[in-house]
Amino acid sequence: MKPKEKIKLHIISTAQDGRGVARHDGLVVFVSGTLEGETVLAEIYTVHKTYATAGTIKVLEKSPYRAEPFCPVQEMCGGCPMAHIIYEKQLEIKKQTVSDALTRLGKFEPESFRLADTCGMETPFRYRNKMVFPVGEEREKVAGGFYAPRSHRLIALSDCAAGEKAASAALGCVTAFMNREKIAPYDEKTGKGSIRRVFVRTGYHSRELMIVISSATERIPKIDALADDLLAQDYGEYQLKSIILNINRKPNNLVLGDKNVTVWGSDTIKDTLMGLSFTISPHSFFQVNPMQTEVLYRKALELAGINQDTTVLDIYCGIGTISLCAAKQAKHVIGVEIVEKAISDAKENAKKNGMENAEFFCGAAEDVVPKLIEEKIKPDVVIIDPPRKGSDEKTLAAILTAKPERIVYVSCNPATLARDARVLADGGYRLECATPVDMFPNTEHVECVAKFTV
Ligand code: SAH
Repeated sequence: MKPKEKIKLHIISTAQDGRGVARHDGLVVFVSGTLEGETVLAEIYTVHKTYATAGTIKVLEKSPYRAEPFCPVQEMCGGCPMAHIIYEKQLEIKKQTVSDALTRLGKFEPESFRLADTCGMETPFRYRNKMVFPVGEEREKVAGGFYAPRSHRLIALSDCAAGEKAASAALGCVTAFMNREKIAPYDEKTGKGSIRRVFVRTGYHSRELMIVISSATERIPKIDALADDLLAQDYGEYQLKSIILNINRKPNNLVLGDKNVTVWGSDTIKDTLMGLSFTISPHSFFQVNPMQTEVLYRKALELAGINQDTTVLDIYCGIGTISLCAAKQAKHVIGVEIVEKAISDAKENAKKNGMENAEFFCGAAEDVVPKLIEEKIKPDVVIIDPPRKGSDEKTLAAILTAKPERIVYVSCNPATLARDARVLADGGYRLECATPVDMFPNTEHVECVAKFTV
């Protein structure tokens, strides 16, 4: 097998990331854009020691699980790697991913815990409230869109179905302005040009819109004319509230630089989540799928079984969204988070929503949680929502010392959930149930909430 070779492959299974799996020349071949049961004409991309990667040129025999394309560029774009699979099957694959992690990596007997079906969306499109579109040149014109998988090759698009139409409308308006005024996009290779990205936030409940233009230069020529264009644009139900210039002069890949200049309107937009109101700035961490976040949080709170006598410890609390939802029902909530700005936002959000029973501590969980538990708190319920790498020995050991009645683990990575669940189980807790929640339809990502009891 060599790169660029074209071969016929039969797909024997579907991998967790949505790629089809075939065998050829003694190697496993991961083929994008296909799934179990299909026969395809594939083009080999790369060949490694134990596996190869390939793309689908033509589907020769179709799976009944193949979905009709919903986007003209879905085969080229890296944004939706599961778009070729019907939604019900995506949800099944995600449940299987969680099941495999807990049984194989976590060594839990399949009969020993309840695994619910994945909670999916009714309409698995237009779910993102934050879109980040890189801009670049395509056939000598400025265009915006997404990158091809594992590359920085721009795939231009006029309307991305993962986000609101208003977000794509903002992108179209900026690229039209750049073409008209001959403003060059930033070029990663030469460091020349100005505009890097168009970053759009939409408030799902508030219908407020924020447009952030990320630039490699301090100034953009005719920025006032750009603001006029953006103000004249039709965003459907959305109302433009904020236009911000974000400056990132460094040759890095960060979505945003540190400096924001408000060009028009407000510095922030508002939105509500579970009936609580939140102020969102360009840099704020805010869950990107507002509908499914409520599904996830409701499940987490139901499993937490909180009442007016409960003290809750919310570890990895971000801007305090779960903490504040819990505080509505609990006696007292303590949130811990490493990002200082997130903690100041959490305190601000608590104040704005009139919550007096939530307090927040800034620091690494592994340092703060053992101290809090040793010195001053006795949580009845611990909620933990760590980043993809999961929690750590010190934090988990401290939780075990605190002996809460229930632990609710919200996870965005089944592998680290399984690893940490094993630590909790070896420490005397029983994994009672796990519910996968689909926060990112058409992608391989799966969120999961698990409950442990003594
Ligand atoms: N519960 C929040 C955020 C979850 S994301 C929500 O639902 O919105 C995970 C959070 O963990 C991020 O805010 C990240 O900044 C924080 N984090 C990462 N490493 C950490 C650590 N070692 N200690 C404490 N917080 C950490």
